[in-house]
Amino acid sequence: MSETAAELRAANFIGGEWVPSRDGDVYERHNPWRPSEVIGEFPSSTAEDADAAIEAASRALRGWAGLSGAQRGAYLRKAADVVEARVEEIAQDMTREMGKPLRESRIEATRAAAILRFFSGEGWRPVGELYEQSAAKSLVYTRRRPVGVVGLITPWNFPAAIPTWKMAPALAYGNTVVIKLAQDSPLTGLHLVRALEEAELPDGVLNLVIGSGSKVGNAMVTDPRVRAISFTGSVPVGQGVRERATKLSKRVQLELGGHNPLIVAEDASLDKAVEAAYAGAFWSAGQKCTATRRIFVAEPAYEDFRERFLERIAQGKVGDPSDPETEVGPIVSESQFDDVMSGIARGREERGTIIAGGDRADPDAYLIPPTVFEDVPDDAFLSCEEVFGPVTTLYRFSSLEEAISRANAVPFGLSASVFTSNLAVAQRFVDELQAGILHVNSQTAGADVHVPFGGSKESGYGPHEQGRAAIEFYTEEITVYQDV
Ligand code: NAP
Ligand code: MG
Repeated sequence: MSETAAELRAANFIGGEWVPSRDGDVYERHNPWRPSEVIGEFPSSTAEDADAAIEAASRALRGWAGLSGAQRGAYLRKAADVVEARVEEIAQDMTREMGKPLRESRIEATRAAAILRFFSGEGWRPVGELYEQSAAKSLVYTRRRPVGVVGLITPWNFPAAIPTWKMAPALAYGNTVVIKLAQDSPLTGLHLVRALEEAELPDGVLNLVIGSGSKVGNAMVTDPRVRAISFTGSVPVGQGVRERATKLSKRVQLELGGHNPLIVAEDASLDKAVEAAYAGAFWSAGQKCTATRRIFVAEPAYEDFRERFLERIAQGKVGDPSDPETEVGPIVSESQFDDVMSGIARGREERGTIIAGGDRADPDAYLIPPTVFEDVPDDAFLSCEEVFGPVTTLYRFSSLEEAISRANAVPFGLSASVFTSNLAVAQRFVDELQAGILHVNSQTAGADVHVPFGGSKESGYGPHEQGRAAIEFYTEEITVYQDV
């Protein structure tokens, strides 16, 4: 364990104090590359701990909301400096706790600092609009106010970026926070909370509770003091959260799964398309909501693309995620590994042919090599459902219209790519593809910090996250009629 990690309190952070769970229960987290190695013991919290955190956040709300945006931004700027100085330690811990290849963990930890820095500047932006009343020349203005106590529930797969892109805007716009990190990757999030503590955030403004979704997450969703829930995770869990939260008239934001297509047109640069397909499907072992799951290749380019893609897979480095050269590391946990392996088995049963990978690649690690299917029917499980691992399928198409309609034929709508050198093809893709994030000549994954991020159809609900879009969810717009 790195020095800072050893100093990190593997505890809840409530009202400015690091505390164990009320009933003292803990769980162990293991390294998915070497599962006999224990990463640490973390609190296995319950609804009682969530209650204490919500109470602390409620008490801190008035003071925090009373500061100016610029004053709040100053705390985020300090936290950004702390995170930036610790990128390497955070990245190392991220890799150990959830198996993300170090090269990607470094990028993600750096991005967490950039997100904090971006939102530290948002406090200087306008907070409303000024109008004249229609009947008299008196003023009417709008004003953005914090929503209140917000509950943030995050997945394990981007343990630095996702908690940061929820916490930073929530705090910048004057809300107080209760965050529940995923049990599979709490260590990275502990670094982030620690950075905000070191930035001297007032007590109770940010509260962390580590524990299961069914206990801690559910307590946040059903407590009336929490006015908004921002959730990132799987479709079924997210839909349940929405149901329970909206019954209590809470504001809800969901970022859910995807089944993201990449379309390779006949005139595409195949080298670029192959590289993007590899990165999109296999980096982080395909454990990204925006990973490339379906690759549609124009019939005349199919054989050439297939051959180059298999060559690229043969050259890719698969294995120890702490080796900076590694491109594909392990799956996060045994249960996720079992899910991915059963998705692969189902693909085989449903007439799919495996042309790369498909079997466990290490007796200890939860390691699955890049796996590629072809000949999978459009109505088979693999063509319709998200398998959260390094698994992708090749399909042939004969017209752009056909490619777009098959790409759109799933309930998901997170991200999509097209590779083409024809502007008209690119334009048609941008007009018709049903997804919240579109890429022309780049891979389906990746998100810049200063622009909106979010899915359509079943992949998202509520306002988008990140960039200036975040203000929509984390503030309430009120209208003031002001006569003299
Ligand atoms: P998940 O199983 O849905 O869990 C997400 C979070 O919800 C975890 O913190 C989990 O707690 C918690 N949770 C579970 N049951 C709950 C309940 N009843 N009430 C409240 N919270 C509950 O998702 P995951 O396995 O962590 O992540 C993978 C999924 O996330 C994939 O489907 C992926 O596509 C999606 N994802 C989407 C985006 C996006 O931005 N669109 C980004 C990344 C990932 P535990 O600690 O108990 O698991
Ligand atoms: Mg899960």
